Amino acid sequence: MRIAIDGPAGAGKSTVARAVAATLGFTYLDTGAMYRAVALAGLRGHPDPAGATIELGDGVRLDGEDVTTAIRAPDVSEQASVVAADPAVRRALVATQQALMRSGDWVAEGRDIGTVVAPDAELKVFLVADPSERARRRAAQMGADPAIVEREQAVRDERDAARQDSPLRAAPDAVEVDTSGLSIDEVVAAIVALARRLD
Ligand code: C5P
Repeated sequence: MRIAIDGPAGAGKSTVARAVAATLGFTYLDTGAMYRAVALAGLRGHPDPAGATIELGDGVRLDGEDVTTAIRAPDVSEQASVVAADPAVRRALVATQQALMRSGDWVAEGRDIGTVVAPDAELKVFLVADPSERARRRAAQMGADPAIVEREQAVRDERDAARQDSPLRAAPDAVEVDTSGLSIDEVVAAIVALARRLD
């Protein structure tokens, strides 16, 4: 089974997707980490960022180096949404993601899983949340100022939604879940219940 979890930054995708995967015994795929790794490669002057070797496991490796922490830096977040608008980058990463998901059970998280990477996924979820609540959650995680996080988030949201290639959008048959007033456990339980119903 493949479960696609899409939505904007800070809607709770990573925490939720990881917990759903752990509960169901599926493999978790963080596609945002791949765009972040390409962005970091570019910032470091890699001659062919989209061709760099990215390994996802316990952490994230870029050409063999552990970059799990480095890819979460604010300049990498910003640059990730820039490289993610490049069709050549998307083509390369989507091909890798589709090859990974060809066999086995997956919970894949991103912006275009239900629309492009796995439009035939058995379950598609689109997570949304109030922008200020999303910024508050991110700011708490990073120990940053919520007002600054909200401004930066708005820029990235706009870039993700407005780009020509695979804009952030819910698949027509995605189940939309507003996580604003819900705890992580409630969101996870709802998605696990939907998945079990399909089994
Ligand atoms: O999810 P995360 O914040 O780690 O993603 C970083 C950036 O990568 C996003 O802002 C978005 O621009 C891009 N992204 C994407 N498609 C995906 C996953 C991430 O365009 N499937």
